[in-house]
Amino acid sequence: MIIHLRPSVTPEKATELAQISNAIHLLEGERHVLVTSSKDKQVKDELYGHVDQTFLFDNDLQLGSATYRSAKREVQIGDRILGGNKQTTMMIAGPCSVESEAQIESSAQLMKELGVGALRGGCFKPRTSPYSFQGLGLEGLKLMAKMREKYGLAIVTEVRDATHIDAVIEYADVVQVGAKAMYDHGILRACGKARKPVLLKRGFGSSLQEFVQAAEFILSGGNENVVLCERGIRTFETQTRFTLDLCGVAFLKEKTNLPVILDPSHAMGYAYGVPDLTRACMAMGVDGLLIEVHPNPKVAKSDAAQQLNHEEFRNLYDSLRKIGSAVGRTLV
Ligand code: PEP
Ligand code: MN
Repeated sequence: MIIHLRPSVTPEKATELAQISNAIHLLEGERHVLVTSSKDKQVKDELYGHVDQTFLFDNDLQLGSATYRSAKREVQIGDRILGGNKQTTMMIAGPCSVESEAQIESSAQLMKELGVGALRGGCFKPRTSPYSFQGLGLEGLKLMAKMREKYGLAIVTEVRDATHIDAVIEYADVVQVGAKAMYDHGILRACGKARKPVLLKRGFGSSLQEFVQAAEFILSGGNENVVLCERGIRTFETQTRFTLDLCGVAFLKEKTNLPVILDPSHAMGYAYGVPDLTRACMAMGVDGLLIEVHPNPKVAKSDAAQQLNHEEFRNLYDSLRKIGSAVGRTLV
C-alpha cells in the first residue's frame, strides 16, 4: 500500500507514522509518502486524520506500477530524456568492456559522428570465469570520464559488486546493474540512495515479478531514476546465448511506469543476429536500445562474438531511423 500523507504532516510526525505502520518513508517532492507491503489493505488507526490518499496493489509492484502513476517516468541522461511520452528511443552503444584509451576513444568518436548521446563500456566486468579479463577497474572509469569531457557523451558503466560502488556512482552518468547483480541487495540499496539514473538489467533466471521488485528496492530507496532493461533469459535453447523475452517487454510497458530498454546483443550472443533483432525491438516501440559495438570485435576481451563492428553499427543505425519514422518513433 502507498499512503500519501496530508501536506500539513510535519517531517517528525511522518517519521513517527512510518514507524507505526512499519513503512518505508519517502519524499515525493514536498509530499511525505509511506510504502508498506501490498498485503496491507488498511491504514493503522493512528494514521486517521493524517492521510490524503491510499493506493492498493495486488502485489509488490507499487511505486513502479502504471496504476500508481500512469505517465511514464522520464530519466535525464546527459542532454537527452529517456522515457516519457514523446515516443523516443534512445540509443546507448559502445564496447562490452573498456580495454584501452585508443579503443574507447574510437568508440566515442563513432558515437559522436552518428549523434548517439550515450557511450557504454564496462570497467568492472562480472565474468563467469576468474581467468577471463575482469576489466580495467578505476583506470577504465577514468577513461570513460575522459570521453565524457572530450566528446560530451553520457557515460554508462556497470557495477559488479559493493567494493567499487561508490566509484561507479561518482564517475558514471548511468549506473548499470548487470543481470548477475540484479539480486544483490547491497547494490540495489546503494543505487536507491544515489541520485544517478540506474539501468537495471533483468537477471537471466528472473521472473518479471522478481525483476520489478528489484526495481522497487531502488525506487523505495528514494531514487526515482530507474530504467528497466530486458537482455534475454535462459531457456532450453542453446543455439542462441539467451532468449529475448519480448512478451516480458510488452508486460513491462503495460504494467510499469518505468522506461523500458532492450539489449539484443547479450540476448543473441552472436553479431549476425543483432541488427535484425534491434530492428524488431525498434519496431516494437521501446524507450531505448543498448548495443555492443567494438572497433575490432575479433580481438575484444569480452563478448567478442556478439559485438558489431563500426560499419555494421553505422548501417544498423541508419536503418533504425527509417523504422522509427514508419512506427512514429524518433531515435535520440
Ligand atoms: C554487459 O552489459 O556487458 C553485461 C555484462 O551484461 P549482462 O549483465 O546483461 O550480462
Ligand atoms: Mn557484454
